[in-house]
Parts: sequence; structure tokens; C-alpha cells
Amino acid sequence: MTDRKDQLAANLAQVEERISSACAAAGRGREDVTLVVVTKTYPASDVRILHELGVRHVAENRDQDAAPKATACADLSLTWHFVGQLQTNKVRSVTSYADVVQSVDRAKLVTALSAAAVRAERETGCLIQVALDAESGERGERGGVAPDGIEELAAAVDAAPGLRLDGLMTVAPLSGPFAGRQRAAFDRLMEYASRLRAERPAANMVSAGMSGDLEDAVAAGATHVRVGTAVLGDRPRLG
Ligand SMILES: *Cc1c(COP(=O)(O)O)cnc(C)c1O
Repeated sequence: MTDRKDQLAANLAQVEERISSACAAAGRGREDVTLVVVTKTYPASDVRILHELGVRHVAENRDQDAAPKATACADLSLTWHFVGQLQTNKVRSVTSYADVVQSVDRAKLVTALSAAAVRAERETGCLIQVALDAESGERGERGGVAPDGIEELAAAVDAAPGLRLDGLMTVAPLSGPFAGRQRAAFDRLMEYASRLRAERPAANMVSAGMSGDLEDAVAAGATHVRVGTAVLGDRPRLG
């Protein structure tokens, strides 16, 4: 094995151990939680190694970086998640490779994604990104709709051709009442997710938790954790 493959294998094993322990502690089956490796800022060669090591879900947050990487890895059986703030002028490109867009946070984006998915003859999975610290009508600093906007967006996705409502996503807030209280934040997200699922049983994805707080997310009931640095190493800058 190459050095990089050894390193990624060791990191993955540690993350796997953390997820397994968190599942066991919560009385959940390991198969109930999907690891999504956030490969942003790292090269396509790393994505290739991760695939060799058994990773099947990867995430990116910038279309400029993601599009060429997805093309370079088109021969691999991978599910691509888009997790970054998304401008409507990037939607056509993102729709061409992303299976799931986790950062749906406004009606205009739903319209654009729908048009692009129909045009590409693809079905794009959508998670509504919830900004737990955003006031009514506002958006979060890192994207996301305020909690009272979830239902309206969900209805928009329901009605949009080419889109499939898969569930909810959040990033634990750095400020506001949930700052430093990841477990409380993820519990709150789960309440919104349960409400959403009551009407739409298929929208059962809950994406929460990153390298620093994946245990809290698993304990709360997340179905998907998004892990970057714990697998790939520290990124050169915030991405
Ligand atoms: C970068 C990123 C992650 C991964 O964060 P790490 O702390 O590196 O694990 C998860 N979710 C989103 C939306 C991200 O942008």
C-alpha cells in the first residue's frame, strides 16, 4: 500500500470505530448510519483510494472543485453529495454529478434544481438545510432555512419535477442558543425531521454531525454523518 492509502485506512478505521461505538451506545444498528466522507480540498486520487477502502458516499461543497473530481472518478460507483451553499448559476453543473443536494435552502434554488434535473433527465435527491440559529425569514450564516420555513420548502420540492425530497440536514450552529450544544441542536433537528416524515415517510434522511460531533449526531438519531478532517486530515484552510 502507498503511504497515503495506509494513512487513510488508519483514519477510516478510527472513524468507523467512533461510529460503531456511538451506534452501540445509542442502541442503534451500525447499518442505520451512513458515513459520507467530505473530500473537499483533497484530490481525486484520494477519492479513488477511499473507494478502494470501501467508501461509497462522498461530499463536496464547491462546484469548481467537485465537477472535475466527479468527472475524474466517473468510473467509480459512488454517491456524490453536494453540501455547500449553492448559487443558481452552478446548479446545472452540480446536477450533472450530484445524486443528493444537501443544502437546499430557498425556493429559487428548488426551481433551478428542478429545471436542471429535468433537462439532464436525472432525479436529484434534496435535503432541506436547516439553520437552527436563524430567525424567521432569515438564512443561516453558513446557509440553511429558518426552521419555520421548512414546510414551505418541502412542499416546493414535493411539487418540483425531477426532485426527490430525502430529508433534512444541519450544521451545528457556532453562535446563538445552540452554540456549543450540539446534542441539543441535533435533537431539535430530529423533531423537525419526525414532523416532516409524518407526512412523507420516504423523506427519512437526517444528515448531521461532522468530525468533531459525530457522536452527538448518532446519539440524536442521524442517518448520515459528514466527516472530512477525521478521515483526510486537516484542510489547508477553512472550506
Ligand atoms: C466541511 C464540511 C463537513 C466536514 O467537516 P469536518 O469537520 O472536516 O469533518 C461537513 N459538513 C459540511 C456542510 C461541510 O462543509
